[in-house]
Amino acid sequence: MNWARKAKKSVPGEWNMNDMPVIKALEKGETYTYPPTMVHGAMWYKCEKCCKKWRMWLEKGLEDKIQDKLEPDKHKPVPFTIMCKCGGLANHVFWQDDISLGGYRPISEHMSYFKNDPSKDCGVPVVR
Ligand SMILES: [Zn+2]
Repeated sequence: MNWARKAKKSVPGEWNMNDMPVIKALEKGETYTYPPTMVHGAMWYKCEKCCKKWRMWLEKGLEDKIQDKLEPDKHKPVPFTIMCKCGGLANHVFWQDDISLGGYRPISEHMSYFKNDPSKDCGVPVVR
């Protein structure tokens, strides 16, 4: 099941808790650091070298349409190209499959994401 597509169907409108991959991961016993990293969506990245594809979750305040509506001046982007664990370069792909959760949700410890570091102008990739 490609839940990225499924997620898209649920937004806007009510989020079905059973469809939510983040909560599912936590229910499976995966742990998260406290306080958990809160995200509002994700983007797919694909490595040019090893061809691995994975989701990069977006921490609150990064490419954040919810926050942008309230404070457009504080819009903060994430990089188009990041470093893969293999040492290759990974690009943002499947733009049409960007995931929007419609709210903020926690991610578990093993999930890759862009960190919102207040001292940086751009999201910092945390690939795990
Ligand atoms: Zn790679």
